[in-house]
Amino acid sequence: MIIIAALAMTVGAFAQKPDIHILATGGTIAGKGAASNETRYTAGQVAIGQLIDAVPQLKDIADVTGEQIVNIGSQDMSDEVWLILSERINELMADPDIDGIVITHGTDTMEETAYFLSLTTAGTKPVVITGAMRASTAISADGPANIYNAVVTAVDPKSAGMGVMVVMNGLIFGARDVTKTNTLNVQAFQSPETGALGHIYNNEAVYYRTPAEHDMTFDIKGMKQLPKVGIVYGYSNIAPDMVEPMFKNGYQGIVYAGVGNGNIHKDIFPVLEKARRKGIQVVRSSRVPTGPTTLHNEVDDEAYQFIAAQQHNPQKSRILLMLALTKTDDWKEIQTYFNNL
Ligand code: ASP
Repeated sequence: MIIIAALAMTVGAFAQKPDIHILATGGTIAGKGAASNETRYTAGQVAIGQLIDAVPQLKDIADVTGEQIVNIGSQDMSDEVWLILSERINELMADPDIDGIVITHGTDTMEETAYFLSLTTAGTKPVVITGAMRASTAISADGPANIYNAVVTAVDPKSAGMGVMVVMNGLIFGARDVTKTNTLNVQAFQSPETGALGHIYNNEAVYYRTPAEHDMTFDIKGMKQLPKVGIVYGYSNIAPDMVEPMFKNGYQGIVYAGVGNGNIHKDIFPVLEKARRKGIQVVRSSRVPTGPTTLHNEVDDEAYQFIAAQQHNPQKSRILLMLALTKTDDWKEIQTYFNNL
């Protein structure tokens, strides 16, 4: 009996743990402040090796390796880094030695990176993005628990096929629906329309639902840059000169973060019509945090060849329009992407 128990323990000790690879990009999770009790800090200072070492419990649940892609505040995120990340994830998806991928990232543009990667990577291995609201040097830094929870999510067999997820403050969110909703609090992320996908409890990912299904991804392999798309934020009394300079600056698409259901000021309307005549795609989105921007509400999209953003906020609309433009110039086809992705 004792021999069997000893044997079981030995086998257990050598049992293969899942291999999780962390791609680190910086952010507050890698931030350093001069003092632990004040808010001033610089994002993107600490290397991934140190972040992993700060959470020794990771060794109990996975064999974790790290790779520093960049070390920046995510306010400086760029298409260039996205293209590198996307390509690297597709490589890791095909690598039989890797079971799941975690990305450490600043929270400012985390939702954008999550959505971009969800549309440009293929495979069923979990891709989990995490970060922190408090620098690694702060009292009660949230980074270590977030990294741990991200790895818990990545090793959980239930996470296979869930796509790209964001794990923050014990909650799991889907890439398309998640958005940052607080500038300071550790409870900074929500999916206002759909709710979270699940939560982490006692080393387990607990799911309430699966994310919206789609099997379409944009093949951007080998691309060095993406189509130029910008966002114009709508407001009372907005003047045409907020949009007109985009014509001579090479924009292929404009996302108008309109008021209400993507409504457009009367002085901007003719400028956006002109954009369409010049072949620039126009997406009507909304600055309102919840609710879709629907087709043919107060604006006759068919008549103006505008695209309605549906459930995509302006920053996610920009990403989808960029990717759509790598495939087509047909506004009706682009509208189907906005309806379905
Ligand atoms: N500015 C930081 C960043 O996005 C904020 C954070 O990570 O929470 O990198």
